This record gives sequence, structure tokens and C-alpha cells, in this order.
Amino acid sequence: MKDHETFPIIPIKKGQGIWLEDFDGNRYLDAISSWWVNLFGHANPAINAALKDQLDTLEHVIFAGFTHESAIKLAEKLVEITPEGLNRCFYADNGSAAVEVALKMSFHYWRNRGQTQKTRFITLENSYHGETLGALAVGNVPLYKETYAPLLMDVITVPGPDCYHREPGESWADYSSRRFELMEQALQQHSATVCAVIIEPLVQCAGSMRMYDPVYLKLLREACDNYNVHLIVDEIAVGFGRTGTMFACEQAAISPDFMCLSKGLTGGYLPLSAVLTTDQVYQAFYDEYQNMTAFLHSHSYTGNALACRAGLATIDIFQQQNIIEKNKALAEIMANTALRFHNHPQVAEVRQTGMILAIELVKNKHTREPFPWQERRGLKVYQYALSKGVLLRPLGNVIYFMPPYIVTEDELLLIAEVAEQGIQYAIKD
Ligand code: PMP
Repeated sequence: MKDHETFPIIPIKKGQGIWLEDFDGNRYLDAISSWWVNLFGHANPAINAALKDQLDTLEHVIFAGFTHESAIKLAEKLVEITPEGLNRCFYADNGSAAVEVALKMSFHYWRNRGQTQKTRFITLENSYHGETLGALAVGNVPLYKETYAPLLMDVITVPGPDCYHREPGESWADYSSRRFELMEQALQQHSATVCAVIIEPLVQCAGSMRMYDPVYLKLLREACDNYNVHLIVDEIAVGFGRTGTMFACEQAAISPDFMCLSKGLTGGYLPLSAVLTTDQVYQAFYDEYQNMTAFLHSHSYTGNALACRAGLATIDIFQQQNIIEKNKALAEIMANTALRFHNHPQVAEVRQTGMILAIELVKNKHTREPFPWQERRGLKVYQYALSKGVLLRPLGNVIYFMPPYIVTEDELLLIAEVAEQGIQYAIKD
């Protein structure tokens, strides 16, 4: 808040398409999709129309003992479009809550099956799964976690497949497979007491947009089966087309035991999340009341009707407009606009997975020595870009582009040009 004494918060008056506008008439291109949620622009006409209709029909209703049309239709749609075997849908109201649900449900599944020794979770270094206490415990980014460490459950943290650390000349696939040995060891050692492995597929977004090869997910699915451990895939940031496929898991042709969805689920309109799971998990809770095996996790706004309707309208756009195919062309344009950064003396790496492109700024390109965090170079890029009408909000010294899918070629060029100028501004002393 003290920062904002010299750098005021910007009140936004309205949003239209990729643009936000403040009360002084300044416009900002939303190059990070308002924290990765917005897929088809602000005030999208199709989503607006669906919501207006829903508003006149039903805004919300208790989701215990009652249900409604949009919740049913959305659950059916999600089952249809997610990987095979995910036939059951549990709603919550934000990403962290979805992670809590998946962790609790996995633990409770084993308990209902008599395996009460299974109480722990395996997670990856540099992972992020949200900021409520359970989600924070299975995350590993110190910035968010360290302060609260005394409050958090103990987890098993395994070094990850983040390809930034691969050897020169080593492929993403080779590095990611090599790193899997460490996961295999952890499973071998701990599987008897482990409920699940939780992972962000392909991109660790909040962990500086670090990326890895799908082969890691393939190996992890096989190992989880071998060691009798659930696989929880957190697609909250990468689901809904971000990585080039509707869901990142598809690139490894795997089905997890739990898939967490949020963010893009409502096109960036309203808070909603869903945990997709299997019939096998569902059956472990299906019993006489007296046996007390039911899964209890009841948020007041679970299955909110407006949010579910926004979700349906969002999925309709994907299906009617062939978005995944169109995004391939957009991703290629994005790659081309970023060619300028490859040889930049302060850029250690330009990496991309689908509609996510990240530029890693460093003090020394050859040794990859980072800029001291206290210098806040990324913040300078942010401030410069805002002054030029582009909303880029770096993660530390990693500048990234994660635009809504309605972005045009000219807008992608503008983003890259402003980022380039912003980097020059940020590194000049
Ligand atoms: N998981 C991942 C992978 C995320 O990126 C995020 C949000 N950045 C969350 C969970 C938490 O979602 P929410 O902010 O809605 O709680």
C-alpha cells in the first residue's frame, strides 16, 4: 500500500474487448487477461447476453438438496470436454477452494477405503496451487508460503522438471524425463502414506511461467497407477486453451483422478471452480447415511447460477468458433513478435507453450545471474508499459504475455514493442 503513495492504484471505469479504460480516458491493453481469467474480452456480447437471460431467470439457489439448469448443463459439458474417465463434477467458487476440495476428497477416498495411513501429499518445487492454507501447503513458491510455514501441513516436495535448468543442448523431453527419476524415488519411498501427487500440467504459472515437457505427465500417470496414488492435475491457470489444447493434460494423453478448473471456466466473468473426478472416486462416497462416508464441503455460493451460465456461454464460444485451432495461428504470431528478445543481452530465455510466452530477464545472460530482487526491475517494466497503455504485470523479473484469445496481430505487435521498450527502461541503470 505504501508503494501506491507514489504509484496510485488505477480505478477502471469500463472494459471493452481487450481494452480497459480508466476515469481519465486512458486505455490499457489487458495483455495478461486480468490474471489469466479473461478469454474472450471484457463485456463479451455473447456472455453478456447469456448472463442477462440468466439474471431474469435465476441468480442463485442453495446447492444442497436443490440444483438448477445451468449447473446441470455445465457439469454435463465439462464431463464431455475433459479427458476420458472424468465423469463426476463437484463445484466450488474459486481456484484455491477447488484445490482444497481435491486434497480433501483424495484423502477421504483412501479413508473410506480403509487406507487410513494415507495422509500426505507430494508436490513439486516451484509449484503454486492457491493461497488458502491447504492450497498454500502444497505450493512451493517462498514469496507466498514462507511467512505462513508454521501453520501449514507437512508435504513431500520433489525437485521438478522445470526446463529452465536443463543443460545446454538438452531437449525439454530429455530433461523432463531425467528429472522424473526424483519423483519415482519419492513415490517408491513414500507411496504407502501418500494420498496424491498434485501438479500444474506443462506450465508452473505463478512460479515464473516455468515450463516442461508433456512426457513428465505421462510418466507421472504411469507411476501413480503403479504406486496406488492419486494424480491431481491443477488446470486452473492452464485449462481452457492456454497451452494450445483445451486442457494441458491432453498433450500427454492422460486422464488424472482429479482435475481442478477455475479462472477461464467463466471466461473471466465470475468466480467459479469445478473439480472433475472419476466414477471410482464417486462410488467410494456413495453409501448409507449412517455409515458417515459422505463428502462435506459446502460453500454458500457453490454452483452459482450466473457463474455456471457464464461457463456455458464460454464453452459455446470455444465450440462455435473453433478457438483451439485459431489459437495455433495466434501463438505463432506471438512467437514471431518475441523473436526480438532472443539475443537481448539481459534475456536468459524466451519460452512459450501455446498462448503463454515468457521472457526471463537476468543481470548476466551467460551465467544467468539474476537481478537482485530488491531492484524490482519487473516493476519498472510494468510501470513503463502502463504509461504506454499496455497492462503487463511481470512475475518478479519474468515478463510474460498471456492475452485474451481475441487479441489481434497488431495488438500482439504492440505488446512486444512496449515490452521491449519497457525492458530497456528497466535495465538502463
Ligand atoms: N492453482 C493455480 C495453478 C493458479 O494459477 C491459481 C491462481 N493463480 C490458483 C490455483 C488459485 O486460484 P484462485 O486465485 O482462484 O484461488
